[in-house]
Amino acid sequence: MSKILVIGEVSDGHLDAGVAKVVAAAAQIGGEIEIALFGVNLGDVAAAAAKLDGVAKVRTFESEGNAHILAATYAPQIVEQAADYSHVLFAGNAFGKDTAPRVAAMLGVQQISEIMVAHSATSFDRSTYAGNAIVTVEAPTGSAIVATVRLASFTAVGSSGSAPIEASSSSAALPTHTRFLELKAQKSERPDLQVARTVVAGGRALGSGDNFQMLYSLADKLGAAVGASRAAVDAGYVPNDLQVGQTGKVIAPELYIAIGISGAIQHLAGIKDARTIVAINKDADAPIFEIADYGLVGDLFKLVPELEGLVS
Ligand SMILES: Cc1cc2nc3c(=O)[nH]c(=O)nc-3n(C[C@H](O)[C@H](O)[C@H](O)COP(=O)(O)OP(=O)(O)OC[C@H]3O[C@@H](n4cnc5c(N)ncnc54)[C@H](O)[C@@H]3O)c2cc1C
Repeated sequence: MSKILVIGEVSDGHLDAGVAKVVAAAAQIGGEIEIALFGVNLGDVAAAAAKLDGVAKVRTFESEGNAHILAATYAPQIVEQAADYSHVLFAGNAFGKDTAPRVAAMLGVQQISEIMVAHSATSFDRSTYAGNAIVTVEAPTGSAIVATVRLASFTAVGSSGSAPIEASSSSAALPTHTRFLELKAQKSERPDLQVARTVVAGGRALGSGDNFQMLYSLADKLGAAVGASRAAVDAGYVPNDLQVGQTGKVIAPELYIAIGISGAIQHLAGIKDARTIVAINKDADAPIFEIADYGLVGDLFKLVPELEGLVS
């Protein structure tokens, strides 16, 4: 039977919302699921993790050295645990993409990236060519399978569980070549782009950062997160953590409103799992309309205020 270790991310003293999706992927693999948490003062975070459905145990690794997320120091500790597990799973976000490759390299195994479907304990679907093809890969058995999970492909498990919490420690030798100096993060009152149910996204057509205020205002009325195309990010209208797409975030909101976004293939790679797509574009032939469920052809500077008025 598979024994799966999910590496839980702690962000800002909270359990990251992606963990519940990684647990869903673990449940699809099947077997016993445990969550490992690294950090300090993990009481509340561990309690939240213990509630996730299907989790058999939560293990906490509390130490000052784990106070800040640092792949270089987390990896040897995870590697030390890996021998007891058939799978080590990470979220396919910045944290997982940073840490999983180190763990895989130290274990001498290949990493499976961005699992979309688990057919069995060793057979997985993942996307390739910017999401235009799905490949089924078979992982060898005999050593831990290290993988990241595409969060957009899984629905978070519920939180009606009550798994035991076990304080654990690691004796792994930690490197000294990497130290945490400072984290500069964008703070936002808005929902997190990667877990938001509604996303309002803008493209190059917005023309300036100031004009993006129109989108923030609409997003606030809808309780939505704000996203952007790469062209809008490259033009400096918004920070790059808002970028959606192949080289940005892959998201799966219930509702995605694309405003002044052409619908380039690299952008669509980030919204393939969105449930309903609404597009506003003045060009009726824009590729975004090929995948949109609802389309409004017209000038965004006229239509967005009208839409906001209707929402109000
Ligand atoms: C390797 C690689 C990776 C990439 N990764 C990403 C990625 O992750 N995410 C991403 O988004 N892109 C990515 N790109 C870039 C991508 O190819 C496109 O260039 C980009 O998505 C275009 O952004 P846009 O649609 O905002 O701009 P444009 O292509 O300039 O489109 C603007 C659209 O707005 C419409 N418009 C203009 N004025 C108005 C108006 N007043 N009212 C209504 N509509 C209007 C136009 O008709 C047009 O359709 C990548 C490219 C490469 C090569």
